[in-house]
Formats: sequence, structure tokens, C-alpha cells
Amino acid sequence: MATVRRNTLVVDFSVLPVKPNAADIEKFLRNNLEIEMASIKNLQCHTIRNCTFIEMRDIVAAERVASMHHLKHSMAAGGKNFNIPVYVEDAATNVRIHDLPPGMSNEVVAEHMKAYGKIKSVARELWKKFFIGIPNGVRVVRIELDKHIPSFIRIQGQLTAVSYKSQIPTCRKCGRTAHPKQKCSAAAAQQKKREEETMELPNVASVQQKQEATNSIHSVADNPEPNVTIDISTEQVAERSNKRQQRSNSHPVSSCEFNPPPQKNQP
Ligand SMILES: [Zn+2]
Repeated sequence: MATVRRNTLVVDFSVLPVKPNAADIEKFLRNNLEIEMASIKNLQCHTIRNCTFIEMRDIVAAERVASMHHLKHSMAAGGKNFNIPVYVEDAATNVRIHDLPPGMSNEVVAEHMKAYGKIKSVARELWKKFFIGIPNGVRVVRIELDKHIPSFIRIQGQLTAVSYKSQIPTCRKCGRTAHPKQKCSAAAAQQKKREEETMELPNVASVQQKQEATNSIHSVADNPEPNVTIDISTEQVAERSNKRQQRSNSHPVSSCEFNPPPQKNQP
């Protein structure tokens, strides 16, 4: 239990195209969040997540700051303003919903997603490396998950890919656990056979069988089919397709039109 973060406020700078320096972070905390330094036990800039973790004296103080300041203040980068998420580090997961039309409100998204758990917030994600500051269409839902969300769902008739950390990828067609290099019908038959075998062996052997079945399911989940979107940013997709285009395109002028700036940003 000693490794768990307690009473911790997360100021999430990962929405920015660049990492802010300590001076920028201090200015943001002082001017916008108005946190009393005396109420802070520990302040840590997490290098991997590009977040600032602020451990406060008690959870009430942390929740008060989060409720007052979540997405209320912006930080400028690349000539654009980015609203900074501020939330308490808890059991909530950031779920990214990729393909909804921009005209669909966040309230509609929240109403649909509450079937999967308790909604904390819904926000529109912005482009970071390319088209800086323009909404990229992705909705980020902070949610305490009660159950897993399939890789593809429909909201008001609109099919969309969904991704989050520790997601169990599912097949777009049949909704079963993803089955790479296997047709839906074959996957269904295999699952049915597994279930029948498990029911027929009510002894030690059945335990082994069950274990094998579980292992097999896990190995499928570890190898999602190619069209399943794992938690990958829109920009990574753009960058990859751009690189593919550069490789395949022998005409230097047209490939330059989409050349990314030579910068090393975070993923
Ligand atoms: Zn399938």
C-alpha cells in the first residue's frame, strides 16, 4: 500500500504539444489554481505522463481544487491555448472515443457512456503536433469503469472506435474478444467447443482445460487484429501514414507538402 498515491491532484500537461518547464508550471499553479503552498506535501513532475502530481494534506482539499479548476484555465503553446485538465488521481480511466461527429454534444456522449461506469468528465481533445490547437474529434471520457467497453460502439447510430489502457480488444464484426487471423464464424465455433469441453469434464482435467482456455483467450487479447485501435493518438496515426507516404512517394515536392516539422515532442 505504501506505493499508492494519496490525496493527489493531477495537473495534466500531456494535452500540450510541448513539455512546460518548471517556471511555467509554477506560474500556472500560482496564478490559476491558487493552491496554498502550505497545503502541499509533495510536488512531482512525472516525466512519462507529462503530468504534475501534487500531494495535498487531505483528499477534501484535492477534490476542491479539481472541481473548481478542471479544464477552466488554458496554457499557450504553439500560438494556441490548451485547457488543462485538473483531477484527483483515482480509479478513473481516460477513455478515448475516436470517430464521433463534432456536432454531437459531450452531454450526449456522457449519457451513453454512463452504461459503463461513473462519468467524471467529457472533453474534446486538440491536435498537438499537427494542426496545433484545433479539435481533433476525439472525446476523452474520464470514467470509473464498472465493465469493459468494446473496441467499437455506436452512439446515436454513429459507429466509433474506443480505446483505453488495459482494454480487452474486441472484434468489430461479432463483438467477441478479438480473434486475429481468424474468421468470426471460426472464432465462434472454437468458443462453443471450448465451452462444451469445459462442461463435460467436471474433474481435475476440467480445471486444466479451463486454464488452457483462459490462456488462449489471453493470448488472443494480447494480439489484437490489425483494425483494432489500441490507445494510439490521432497524431501517431497521421505521422505513421505520413511516413508510409514518404516511403512510397518518389516525388519530392508532393511529399514535402505534409512534412512534419523536425521536432521531438512527446508521443
Ligand atoms: Zn469477429
